[in-house]
Amino acid sequence: MPDPSADPELILRLEGVSKTFQNQRVLDALDLEIARGEFLTLLGPSGCGKSTTLNIVAGLLSPDGGRMTLRGRAADRLPPRKRRLGMVFQSWALFPHMTVFDNIAYGLKMQGSPSAAVVKTKVDEMLELVRLPGAEGKFPSQLSGGMQQRVALARALVTGPDLLLLDEPLSNLDAALRKEMQVEIKRIHETLKVSTLLVTHSQEEALVMSDRIAVMRGGKIERIAPPAEIYADPRSSFVCTFVGDAN
Ligand code: ADP
Ligand code: MG
Repeated sequence: MPDPSADPELILRLEGVSKTFQNQRVLDALDLEIARGEFLTLLGPSGCGKSTTLNIVAGLLSPDGGRMTLRGRAADRLPPRKRRLGMVFQSWALFPHMTVFDNIAYGLKMQGSPSAAVVKTKVDEMLELVRLPGAEGKFPSQLSGGMQQRVALARALVTGPDLLLLDEPLSNLDAALRKEMQVEIKRIHETLKVSTLLVTHSQEEALVMSDRIAVMRGGKIERIAPPAEIYADPRSSFVCTFVGDAN
């Protein structure tokens, strides 16, 4: 029988992934799959293991047990730079001493030594995509929080990743900007059709942005379904309380 995890349309598959810190079991045999082009959100309260999951996918943490495949290939054989991922964190972690252009180009240079012309074309494409034309010469400190986050998205996407990982990317923004960036991230996802794994504790964000929501609790996925189904039929009191909670 063919191994279903070898399916290249399955961008990410986690099977029975566990992680323990000191004596605390943070991920408890977690299963999760993301299809090509899908926008999947991990939604859950603080401390339930969302960032740990993302960091394992990114290769920044090793799991204690379980299996992970990326595009059908065992991830433990793939070093982080070969995982074809883009990542945006809560704090945008732009290089303060580099211009917007150099921040975005950084990802490309890590992958090899593209010609100056190729770098320029790709950075220009990204500035267009995130709607920051003309900002290439600015430094991060000269930009608003929302604009910095657009640069972080451009930097994560410039290499054409198979999977975009977003860890609470909107939590540092005020409510109006958060709304604006939800729409922007959705638009970018629809333009590029890049598979996206968003981590958030905000049910509103999850309901607005996702193709499917994985509600997480204590290191496990409690429920996974499209937003409308979760909203209409939460099935467990935890999902119900959490999805009904406006935080
Ligand atoms: P979330 O992103 O859902 O808020 P995390 O994945 O960051 O949760 O953390 C899950 C739990 O693991 C928390 O209790 C946290 O304190 C603990 N934890 C996370 N990283 C570490 C670490 N490097 N060392 C020890 N404990 C950690
Ligand atoms: Mg977190």
